[in-house]
Amino acid sequence: MSHTIAAVSTGNQVSAIGILRLSGEGCIEIAEKVFSRPLQTSPNRLLVLGELRDIQGRTIDQCMAVVSRAPHSYTGEDTVEFHCHGSPAVLAEGLRSLYAAGARPAQRGEFTKRAFLNGKLDLTQAEAVIDLIEADTADAAANAAGQVGGRLQKVLLPVYDHLTDLCSHFHAVLDYPDEDIEDFGLSNYAASLRSDAKSLYALLQTYGQGRILRQGVKTAIVGRPNVGKSSLLNALVGFDRAIVTDIPGTTRDTVEESVLAGSTRLRLVDTAGIHQTADIGVDRSRKALEEADLVLFVCDGSVPLTAEDQAIIEACLDAPQAIALINKCDLGTQVEPSALPFLNVIPISAATGDGLELLRGCIDDLFAGESKCDGSILTNPRQYDACRRAYESLLSALQGLKLGVTPDALLLDVEAAMEAIGEVTGATVREDITNRIFERFCVGK
Ligand code: GDP
Repeated sequence: MSHTIAAVSTGNQVSAIGILRLSGEGCIEIAEKVFSRPLQTSPNRLLVLGELRDIQGRTIDQCMAVVSRAPHSYTGEDTVEFHCHGSPAVLAEGLRSLYAAGARPAQRGEFTKRAFLNGKLDLTQAEAVIDLIEADTADAAANAAGQVGGRLQKVLLPVYDHLTDLCSHFHAVLDYPDEDIEDFGLSNYAASLRSDAKSLYALLQTYGQGRILRQGVKTAIVGRPNVGKSSLLNALVGFDRAIVTDIPGTTRDTVEESVLAGSTRLRLVDTAGIHQTADIGVDRSRKALEEADLVLFVCDGSVPLTAEDQAIIEACLDAPQAIALINKCDLGTQVEPSALPFLNVIPISAATGDGLELLRGCIDDLFAGESKCDGSILTNPRQYDACRRAYESLLSALQGLKLGVTPDALLLDVEAAMEAIGEVTGATVREDITNRIFERFCVGK
């Protein structure tokens, strides 16, 4: 029997409505002890208006209670929710009275963990729940919502099914030689192994975009001292996060900020400029440039380009994406866009804000909406790693087929692929890993 757990599901801030949530066998009985109206006879999913009381019968709040009986609930167990006024004091008091009536505090993610253990969600859906809660762009939310709806499952389950068919056929022939079972011919499975490897490959290809959806576009702002990098960072972020100074080379450390450019989240790293010296700030800048998905090269357009500008331009040419910004355009232009070897060149003024909208639009064009954010994008490093292992095992199986290995040798690869896919869907995941996944959740989810 699952113990009844209780938590505030709406966070600890003042809001119009706050929800107390209970789940587990016996939770309706417990809820009834602190509510003025009968709940055990209340129909499923019907809001009932009444008073939430403490165990001595004093009224805490006037609220709505709703009962969802197993298995038709989020957790798959009986659940009750109280929709209260969203005062943290009211909710804390309500929770205390539920504990006094027999519930115990829920752990992080315990509601969703129960949903997973009761088969209401597979692990891809459960992990997407946390991604959905943490999503900070519309695209990230749309992708996570698609995965809560089972989009990843749709890709992985058919692969898992084909591999199960192959394994069960092989074992059936081996274990029941007298039965009338069709001979096991590996070559019959070549086409399906190939198409499974193809589906996994296509999924793995989405991870580059997925990483950006999850973490934002890692962006390095580079340029020689005093061209306006910190000013640009501040203009994009909207407040003075970086220290702006007109003494060259004083931005010693790198600072990082997160900013929304159109519908793209940028993680901006302001750099100390690329010098040939080995000081810590510069080393860090080089590293930022190496790791960046996007480089914003900034030059001072009010003076001609210098040799130092040219050296930095060289270093930017290897970046996956780069935009050149001719800054200080409010002071006139000494730098022609055609002098800069970048696909995207935008004159801006970090001081007046001129050109920043163009910059945001350009970033969106480069990063937003390569593939549809409908859940088909792999965003999670754990899932990526497991799918990569599954893919490699399938490649090894296909290689084995070509070389004519024995079925039992090939089966090892197929089983390894199934094991890896199972880690993503939850079919074969270890308990300690499951526990860690749910620890990422907040209490009440
Ligand atoms: P960094 O060393 O590249 O980070 O440069 P800063 O952002 O510290 O800017 C250096 C100087 O240039 C400061 O005095 C800024 O106020 C000034 N500055 C930055 N951007 C502009 C701009 O667009 N127009 C003008 N007129 N001055 C700017």
